Amino acid sequence: MIRNLTFQVFLAGLVGLTLGYYFETMGGSPPMIEGGIIFLKDSFLAILRMLIGPMIFFSLLSGITSLGSIVRLKTLGGATIGYYFFTTLIATFLGLLAVFFIHPWTDYPPLENVDSISRSAALLQPGDGSLFGVLGSVASQAFTNPIAAIASLNILGIVTNAILFGIAATIALPEKNPFFELVRACNALISKVLGWVILLLPIGIFAILFEFSSRTNSGEMDGGVLISQLLDFSGLVLGLTLFHGLIVLPFIAWLAVSISPFELLKKISRPMIVAFSTSSSSSTLPVTIQTAERELSVDPKVSSFVLPLGATINMDGTALFEALAAIFLAYLYGIELSTILIVTVFFMAMVASIGAPGMPSASMAGMQMVLLAIGVPLEAIAILLVVERPLDTIRTSLNVEGDIVGALVVNRYFKSQAE
Ligand code: ASP
Repeated sequence: MIRNLTFQVFLAGLVGLTLGYYFETMGGSPPMIEGGIIFLKDSFLAILRMLIGPMIFFSLLSGITSLGSIVRLKTLGGATIGYYFFTTLIATFLGLLAVFFIHPWTDYPPLENVDSISRSAALLQPGDGSLFGVLGSVASQAFTNPIAAIASLNILGIVTNAILFGIAATIALPEKNPFFELVRACNALISKVLGWVILLLPIGIFAILFEFSSRTNSGEMDGGVLISQLLDFSGLVLGLTLFHGLIVLPFIAWLAVSISPFELLKKISRPMIVAFSTSSSSSTLPVTIQTAERELSVDPKVSSFVLPLGATINMDGTALFEALAAIFLAYLYGIELSTILIVTVFFMAMVASIGAPGMPSASMAGMQMVLLAIGVPLEAIAILLVVERPLDTIRTSLNVEGDIVGALVVNRYFKSQAE
């Protein structure tokens, strides 16, 4: 059954891509077909979105409360945060190291008109887009009341509330308190509904990839040089993302649990495909959790804690993309990057990746703080939009892979502590 669904998802994706391409080369899809497919896509995404809020809240809450002892919680929390921080750091570092050696876009001159740039719009000023401005908005999102956070799908707020209530319940309530039973029951109900939604995956993925493929093949942009530079930039992002996803993370997984890279990639293929087609770590979460538990035998106590948190704060692909994009745009706008500015890009990209929600194109919001910090005008973001959508697919897959490898590492650590 599981394998069957994976096959269905593959097939549906392939058919969606091919049909989208076919209709586009024929001059566009018939309105009936296009309307129907957009309806399928929107409904599928709405169903996924409907479950994200309650699912993250209850799975995190139940993960924390079912740990039972605050000592364990500290261990698990510390290991999880430590892993996330470490791998995001590697990804960002990889991006910055690579641009020292490989920067193909410098074969062409920067854009003209660079004099108009306000360099003073730079570093660490309080206000919109500065470090404190962004930290302020992160804090106001994080500390929202739980009902408002769930209703408005404020992921950071949901995660913060779930963690705080989970820790409070673990400390304040006796082990047999009915509250724990209630949380487990809510979690079980949500999982049941998720199971039904997962059965719809092939339809959703067909529709998403159909639309994606027809858009990519229609109305293109002009500006030969800029396109070449964008292609160079995209090629580097792609290469480094693949390097991190195919070499670095599998190596960490192998160190942790001796799983071969091939076996790892095979077992996690389904969430990777879902991440690729939805460009959303949060929407992929149900499949990520299911895969970690069923295919990789991660303890549900670990997966229900590590994965929802990871879908929100652990984004290796996003950090890598934002660091590279900032360096690329700085070149285009004629800004020389001193060591200090490069270190700034490094930290800002990490913070922005932590703050970005697991949604399509979420990086674009965090990008502004990285750009402002080094004095690149915000309009520069528009240049990225041309290549942003296709790149989002692969960086979201990397984000999800990072979460799953995190679950493996923490699971191993959790077991060794329990022995
Ligand atoms: N789409 C990414 C994700 O959901 C976030 C981003 O835009 O980088 O993981």
